Amino acid sequence: MKITGIRTFLMHAGQPDPSKWASDGHASHVTQHKLEGTRNWLFLKIETDEGITGIGECSGWPRVIETAIKDIAPLLIGEDPAHIEKLWQKMQIAMMGHGMLGTVGAGAMTGIDMALWDIKGKALGVPVWMLLGGKLRDRIPIYSHANTAERALAVKERGIKTIKCGGVSDPVRKVAMLRETVGDEMDIAIDLHGPPWMTPADACRLVRALEPYELLWVEDPIAPDNIEGYRRIRDAAHIPLASGERTATIFGERQLIEEELVDVIQPDTGRAGGITQMKKIAAMAEAHHIQMAPHSGSLGPVAEYAALHVLASIPNALILERIDDDWEGRRHTIVPHPVQEGGSIAVPDAPGLGCDIDEEFVVRFPSEGNVSVPVQESAKSYNPGTYGERLYVQTRLSRRSYFNP
Ligand SMILES: [Mg+2]
Repeated sequence: MKITGIRTFLMHAGQPDPSKWASDGHASHVTQHKLEGTRNWLFLKIETDEGITGIGECSGWPRVIETAIKDIAPLLIGEDPAHIEKLWQKMQIAMMGHGMLGTVGAGAMTGIDMALWDIKGKALGVPVWMLLGGKLRDRIPIYSHANTAERALAVKERGIKTIKCGGVSDPVRKVAMLRETVGDEMDIAIDLHGPPWMTPADACRLVRALEPYELLWVEDPIAPDNIEGYRRIRDAAHIPLASGERTATIFGERQLIEEELVDVIQPDTGRAGGITQMKKIAAMAEAHHIQMAPHSGSLGPVAEYAALHVLASIPNALILERIDDDWEGRRHTIVPHPVQEGGSIAVPDAPGLGCDIDEEFVVRFPSEGNVSVPVQESAKSYNPGTYGERLYVQTRLSRRSYFNP
């Protein structure tokens, strides 16, 4: 079998319903959600001379990655898609002149790698999890987002057992409110979204203040590029920590895992380097008794499918992030839509990944802007008078707001 072409499908995925996302700020300001108008999904199809096609998805910076894939494609034409690791190495060395892979280079390789696994599964007539060593489970637990009592109860009503809230505005009070609302029957996690203005000292204090609420994890309490800060928080707090969504490949996740700075590793299924890298990252984590909970909050449904196959095949699978009701178009993008019952999804059994995109639906949503819109001033997450500075490293909030003044 030979690869004959790669087609890309870039779409504007529609604005997530802000009431269903754990956005920063207070409930009354969630309409200012920073993903407004920015979320793009990039899918690709690899075609072969035997008529089998493979589907993949890339995150990282989809509009840029689409261009990268057009650059990479000639390297793959004529190659046998069976030799996935060899092609991964070929792509990696081809991009070496551009510097380290980063999430853009790895994002491009992710969609291609995913599609190669899809082709292999279809060619052999088995699901991808079978190629990864078989499955340990038939269903994958998922968690949804909730920042308000109303949303938490709605999620609980659907049988979902885990929620995640987000943002650094009043986090302790928010977690206390959610715990009071849902009781002890649900797991709760909180994502602080790696605030670059949060000092490690404040993060240590904040994470300790969250200890009584028996959280599943605290995610990105400081900027993920401050590895030494993670060490300080790890040493100070007795609560599971999670990180890893903004890096990619075994090289990007290595330090978090090897230095045991997290209890939960969260590679993004659309930019971690593909199923090939997800499986390796999981093995590295397993050696350190670290569990995997792939990041997929803003991903499209093809990457979700890929995550299901990986999580089915690894012993240290914890849970999958999935906001199935954030945009009505999500369910029309893919065929078949994964069947979520209560708090879990059945592992697909069809050959390959077991899904395809609805091309006619996808082309109805042409790509739009692709960078985050800064949090609006009305969200009150900046100190008064500083909003216009819009700096990355900036004291946005009064320190007292972290700690329930
Ligand atoms: Mg996160």
